[in-house]
Amino acid sequence: MTVLHESPVVPAQSAPGRQVAISIRGQQVTVDCPSWCAYPHSEVYGSLEDVSHHGPAISLTAPSHCGAVEAVLAARVSSWPFAGDVEAAGPFVAFDPVNDEVAQLTPAALTALADQVVAHGYALRAMAASIAG
Ligand SMILES: [Zn+2]
Repeated sequence: MTVLHESPVVPAQSAPGRQVAISIRGQQVTVDCPSWCAYPHSEVYGSLEDVSHHGPAISLTAPSHCGAVEAVLAARVSSWPFAGDVEAAGPFVAFDPVNDEVAQLTPAALTALADQVVAHGYALRAMAASIAG
């Protein structure tokens, strides 16, 4: 099992962002882009509501069936400032546990989850030790 050693990007509320020029159906529009955003914004958007910001993703690479590996516990900071959803407008953690659906987590919920992951890691170590020769 390999842990990617990327530092999660935690948005600082006071960190200055930048402005990026985006294309909405051929019209150039300038929007604020937070300092934690690593998204290129190079596509042509259908509407302003489609514009979203995303930080770098982190995940845990775990062994799977027949030597395959799966990226699990993926997370990245995201925001959808114009989508009309108050909870999605500010930065939140987009958490994808098993490469399927994404949950929208608050910092407190992600911290509680991280505590559970650490506890699970200790349980895995104990399990390995219980059968080690
Ligand atoms: Zn952005």
